[in-house]
Amino acid sequence: MPRGDGTGPAGAGAGTGMGRGRGGQGQGRMGGNKAGAGPSGYCVCPKCGERVPHRVGTPCYEMKCPKCGAKMARE
Ligand SMILES: [Zn+2]
Repeated sequence: MPRGDGTGPAGAGAGTGMGRGRGGQGQGRMGGNKAGAGPSGYCVCPKCGERVPHRVGTPCYEMKCPKCGAKMARE
């Protein structure tokens, strides 16, 4: 990478660029996966119909509706 350019004002630029690049890649991948699981990644309350994003590793029936406190079900 352009280490030489990282001495002057370009240093901030390079640093920012790297940071953004890394973050962008990581978030892009993770976000993509999570976004892909979006449609099926929701739990729905059978009582009031409230929908909440499903947390990986936590079954919907172990989640409680934030509105009425009922057990959530998989959408
Ligand atoms: Zn509810």
